[in-house]
Amino acid sequence: MREFVIILIVILILLGLTAYKYRRQIAMIIGFGKMLRDARADIRRSASPRRIDHEPSELVCCTRCGTWVPQDRAIRFDAKTYYCSQDCVRSAMTAA
Ligand SMILES: [Zn+2]
Repeated sequence: MREFVIILIVILILLGLTAYKYRRQIAMIIGFGKMLRDARADIRRSASPRRIDHEPSELVCCTRCGTWVPQDRAIRFDAKTYYCSQDCVRSAMTAA
């Protein structure tokens, strides 16, 4: 029984040393696994029927900076004036 415990301890020490030696690779593998899991979650989210049924809204051009943004996310000023963000509205106000 004592020998078994000693062998177990030696194995644990060897495992510990190996883990310590390859800690960077292990961290990399863990990070890679996490990345894969995130990517898979993203795919599942983007493949949900809600997203597929949702028609992409028309793109509009920001009057201030020229960025193209979906109409439902743009800030509408009048019939033909859109801004991509609050910042662009603000800078347009101060420039005018
Ligand atoms: Zn803009």
